[in-house]
Amino acid sequence: MVALDGPSGTGKTTVARKLAARLSAGYLDTGAMYRAITVAVLRAGVDPADAAAVAELARGAELEIGTSPVRPHLLLGGRDVATDIRGADVTSAVSAVSSVPEVRELLVAEQRRIIEDVIATKGGIVVEGRDIGTVVTPDAPLKVYLTASASIRAARRNAQDSAAGRESTVDAALQSVERRDHLDSTRATSPLRAAEDAVPVDTSELKIDQVIIALSELANQRGLLTGCTAEVAQ
Ligand code: C5P
Repeated sequence: MVALDGPSGTGKTTVARKLAARLSAGYLDTGAMYRAITVAVLRAGVDPADAAAVAELARGAELEIGTSPVRPHLLLGGRDVATDIRGADVTSAVSAVSSVPEVRELLVAEQRRIIEDVIATKGGIVVEGRDIGTVVTPDAPLKVYLTASASIRAARRNAQDSAAGRESTVDAALQSVERRDHLDSTRATSPLRAAEDAVPVDTSELKIDQVIIALSELANQRGLLTGCTAEVAQ
């Protein structure tokens, strides 16, 4: 099991998926789960700042998340929301939703259940998020905390949004990244921070392949490379 935490724009998702494929492991995007609950909140017309209403909605949400690193699916009430969760409205509301303690309690329990299940069936899993090494699985044998400068993270987010056809500028991406960093790292319940035993990896000057190679080495040192499918680091 590999716990991959860090703020947005550090390359977590790409790195987590490639690493999972390389390790023949499962993959879990916990940010997608908080985003899916946010979609439910916005669709219901609930104010993301209304913690009680958000908690009630989260309790009734039917969420199903896939764990394939190649094609991870995400269903809300049986409908595919993989694209909707990346919308700007969701990105700006998700930190408020994810700061609600009941939402975290529900999703952390679900994440632990999925992790246990995937480890039992596939032998391993790479999990990305903000609190994986600190709260979800503090016993993970490898914890990595990805960082990168805010300007580089904003440039990456801007490139991703533009490529996906979403309206974006570097300035707007920088504001959004800094706002979310602030909200995620100052919330009362399980704020974004590196676990004491996490290995910090600054991805500012690294290409994805270089990050994968560095993490594969760490995984190898901890005996997590069994069943590796080899040629994935391109
Ligand atoms: O990783 P991603 O940018 O998709 O995460 C979206 C949001 O979900 C984060 O800004 C954060 O508010 C929340 N999140 C969280 N805990 C996690 C993963 C994501 O609070 N483990």
